[in-house]
Amino acid sequence: MVTDLLNKTEFTKDDLIALLDVSATDMQKVLERALQVKTIHVGRKVYLRGLIELSNKCGKNCYYCGIRAGNAKVHRYTLTREEVLDAAQFAWKNGFGSLVIQSGELTNSTFADLIEDLLRSIHKLTKHELSITLSCGEQPKKVYQRWRAAGAHRYLLRVETTNQQLYYQIHPQDHLHAYENRLQALADLREAGFQVGTGVMIGLPGQTSADLADDLLFFKSLDVDMVGMGPYVEHADTPLFEKADQLWPLEERFKKSLLMIALLRLMMPDINIAASTALETADQMGRQRGLLAGANVVMPNLTPVINRIDYQLYNNKPNLDKDPYLSTDSLKHSIEAIGEVIGYHEPGNSFHYLKRTNR
Ligand code: SF4
Repeated sequence: MVTDLLNKTEFTKDDLIALLDVSATDMQKVLERALQVKTIHVGRKVYLRGLIELSNKCGKNCYYCGIRAGNAKVHRYTLTREEVLDAAQFAWKNGFGSLVIQSGELTNSTFADLIEDLLRSIHKLTKHELSITLSCGEQPKKVYQRWRAAGAHRYLLRVETTNQQLYYQIHPQDHLHAYENRLQALADLREAGFQVGTGVMIGLPGQTSADLADDLLFFKSLDVDMVGMGPYVEHADTPLFEKADQLWPLEERFKKSLLMIALLRLMMPDINIAASTALETADQMGRQRGLLAGANVVMPNLTPVINRIDYQLYNNKPNLDKDPYLSTDSLKHSIEAIGEVIGYHEPGNSFHYLKRTNR
């Protein structure tokens, strides 16, 4: 039954539910098939994105998020221009082909100007040899266009869940957090010319395999270029923590996350899929296991150590003191140990994006 399903190239919702609910033995078959498909379509190469957590200031109040505006316990920071440029320089000198600049969601002109300045300054400093992904939330279309023109190549805006009822259990139901705004922002990003990425949390309270199957079908229908997704990990200082007793065990959320990566690789063989940091919260080898399940991107954290403690979207975030992947030797060894190679100095553009834009 599972073998038959794995030979398909198009999957129905029922197929996906069956594949998300497989036994441990069949799960191994799903992961092995995903690795085969990954090898054929994108190879065994891992692209590095140096992650810079620019600011934990945010105007929103997502119920699951440790840095939401309403959490008064958080010490707020914004990295200085010099700190960002130092991190970019580190990435450049160490062969990373790409950076991700992530922050809380701020929609004011000062923030838009800051990002634009950083984009131009990083490109000048690194001789346009780094590609840059932004993950700075919903913004007016004009701001997306400005940032694209200033040299941002990719944008990650996670939808978190496509079940709208669930969406409003994890977000306030108001204009600032409207589901339609999120969809509009994803459409605006595409029109602005970005490689567009989205993603979901896996194992939210009340979430089902049918919801996750819908999420996968949503990625396909949106024809996304990249996806970053991982287990939902609760944060004690958030409203959603009240439902922690309804959660699947973390190990189960981790397994479902691997299956989601694997199934997405089968459905969209040439996109970029990140092995998210949250995978490591559940399993020390989480990122490597994500790569073996079909992911092809990792994001070592370049944020200054002193600020990392303040950028905790969820509890037990790994590598708060030091990301072992930043030791270039240990990064290389951990990737090579699982039979993959690092795409040093390569931008790692999504093949899917290159094909759909005839590049
Ligand atoms: S998930 Fe993003 S937008 Fe929501 S509160 Fe956290 S940082 Fe802000």
